[in-house]
Amino acid sequence: MSIKAIQQAIKEYNTIIIHRHVRPDPDALGSQAGLRELIKASYPEKQVYVVGEDDPSLTFLVKMEKIDDSVYQNALVIICDTANTARIADERYSLGDKIIKIDHHPNVDPYGDIRWVDPTASSTSEMIYAFYLQAEGLTMNDAAARLLYGGIVGDTGRFLFPSTTNKTLQYAAELVTYDFDRTKLYDGIYNVKDNIARMRGYILQNFTLDNGLSVIKLKRDILDEYNISPLETGQLVGTLGEVEGILAWVFFIEEEDQIRVRLRSKGPVINGVAAKYNGGGHPLASGASIYSWEEADDVVEDLKETVLQYKL
Ligand code: AMP
Repeated sequence: MSIKAIQQAIKEYNTIIIHRHVRPDPDALGSQAGLRELIKASYPEKQVYVVGEDDPSLTFLVKMEKIDDSVYQNALVIICDTANTARIADERYSLGDKIIKIDHHPNVDPYGDIRWVDPTASSTSEMIYAFYLQAEGLTMNDAAARLLYGGIVGDTGRFLFPSTTNKTLQYAAELVTYDFDRTKLYDGIYNVKDNIARMRGYILQNFTLDNGLSVIKLKRDILDEYNISPLETGQLVGTLGEVEGILAWVFFIEEEDQIRVRLRSKGPVINGVAAKYNGGGHPLASGASIYSWEEADDVVEDLKETVLQYKL
């Protein structure tokens, strides 16, 4: 139903602008730009743009385009991988004529004229590949396959997270039949600068572990010492995932105007805690924003309770 409606809208519009969430990750960019390549290969006469801020560590995947406000006139806007309007990169999305939401997060904010939301999908990139398979007469190419594969790899932690299904693996198997350099793609996603590697060392030395919950606070002084930018902190949060005994973990990262909270879990559902503190996300990977270190203690108390309930 939504797939048909989405293809129909794509056919109707000559200009299509694709957005995704702020602070992009490989799935945000992979689904956004993968969809652009798919549309361009299938409907070469259409103008298709990708917008939002660039993250220097991910420009190897794709670079964004600068477009004028006027381009939005009579344009179709498709927003990938973004649960709520507040997280859409480039707020001009609302200038479009019609808005489509394609996402795999829980549908907390059902925005858009057409919505296709599937929280059982490992990634939005997986959904875009499903769109290619189920829509009529679309053309996949090497560039789209590279981006979609990169997005799936990123959001499944290299097929490690429980969100990985047989469908995920089947799609991945099909995507690698296209011609792109997988090793280069992995290097781009996983190689880190030396300061990140050293910061990971600090985290491994300093995390706390109490009853299955691990907490790490990265205050301004330590982030400055290791020269870590707010965007780069995304490359740190997986660091504790392999420590035995950790069921859930939380990073508090002091930024200029907020303390960013990154939550991860191997069982306890933590997006309820994220939602309580101006955030949201997936049951096992979510984020929030707080504004004082006292509030951080409240988050820790709530998480302790969540982990305790899970263990009962
Ligand atoms: P991150 O720690 O930024 O990788 O985020 C993990 C997950 O939580 C992602 O799926 C994000 O979409 C979601 N998320 C992070 N921060 C927020 C927020 N402030 N509001 C809603 N969802 C969020």
